[in-house]
Amino acid sequence: MSNAELDALRERVDELNLEMLKLINERGMLVQEIGKAKEAQGINRYDPVRERNMLNNIKEHNDGPFEDSTLQHIFKEIFKAGLELQEDDHRKALLVSRKKKPEDTVVNIKGVEIGNGAQTLIVGPCAVESYEQVATVAEAVKKKGLKLLRGGAFKPRTSPYDFQGLGIEGLKILKQVADEYDLATISEITSPSHIEIALDYIDVIQIGARNMQNFELLKAAGAVNKPVLLKRGLSATISEFMNAAEYIISQGNDQIILCERGIRTYERATRNTLDISAVPILKQETHLPVFVDVTHSTGRRDLLLPAAKAALAIGADGVMTEVHPDPAVALSDSAQQMDLDQFDEFYEGLSLSKSTVTK
Ligand code: PEP
Ligand code: MN
Repeated sequence: MSNAELDALRERVDELNLEMLKLINERGMLVQEIGKAKEAQGINRYDPVRERNMLNNIKEHNDGPFEDSTLQHIFKEIFKAGLELQEDDHRKALLVSRKKKPEDTVVNIKGVEIGNGAQTLIVGPCAVESYEQVATVAEAVKKKGLKLLRGGAFKPRTSPYDFQGLGIEGLKILKQVADEYDLATISEITSPSHIEIALDYIDVIQIGARNMQNFELLKAAGAVNKPVLLKRGLSATISEFMNAAEYIISQGNDQIILCERGIRTYERATRNTLDISAVPILKQETHLPVFVDVTHSTGRRDLLLPAAKAALAIGADGVMTEVHPDPAVALSDSAQQMDLDQFDEFYEGLSLSKSTVTK
């Protein structure tokens, strides 16, 4: 074949591309009109019977050289694109996304604003064990001008024989201490049936890593008027994490803090692998505040300060960390909680930006 002949064939291919482009867009416009008519009539947009008929029709008229299966694939993509055109914006952009809402969401926890540029800490024991234990930590938290006190009452433990937490009794202790020290409380809720009663005791509902895709729990937390701290699942992608938050916001509650807490990888030097790049990605992709839990992500006391520094430097709104008066005898996570002196050092090393309380 001469070069001139080859050029002529290529020219014809270019022409066909443009014809196909015109036809695909023409088809798109028709499909949009059909979508509007269907909406007016209240009919479901996706019609699998109609799609099957269209595919059969294409197959019947296929004289090659393409295989039926290849054409089915191509046309399915065209059908899908048509369906997407029919869908309104909210089906495409998640409510948690910046596409949907460009401004930062500020989460207000009893006057503490999270997500307004100030950095803060959530501090407290892994689990509520006793009044004295929580009060000792609360005093240290209060002294530093911090406001957010954590403490697990329902502990999701790997073994059913390990300490499971004090349950509602634990929430009562946490609340009593918080009231005495004028702090706000954060505690994990593991069952939708506990949300109602927990509202009396906690200021932030924590949904733990193991429950990130407990959709009934997410929906229940989304249906109440209470901030939620949502942890990333042990093996959740960022997209899955965002969709979990979407379950909450879609029920009407936008007071959500996302918390990166490390993901499970092959690495054994740390308890989990802190996915530090998730922080700026979540800040870019969503309008929600982002925290980093340095305790569960590293599982190592010696890494708490550098990991917290990295978290704040890369744009986190705050850090969560566990502190216990005597970690050696803690009923859970004894290897990684800080004692009070270590917490002092940790806090000094951090120098948080701006004020932590804005009434
Ligand atoms: C916790 O913060 O107490 C906890 C159990 O963390 P995670 O759900 O991230 O494991
Ligand atoms: Mn813990």
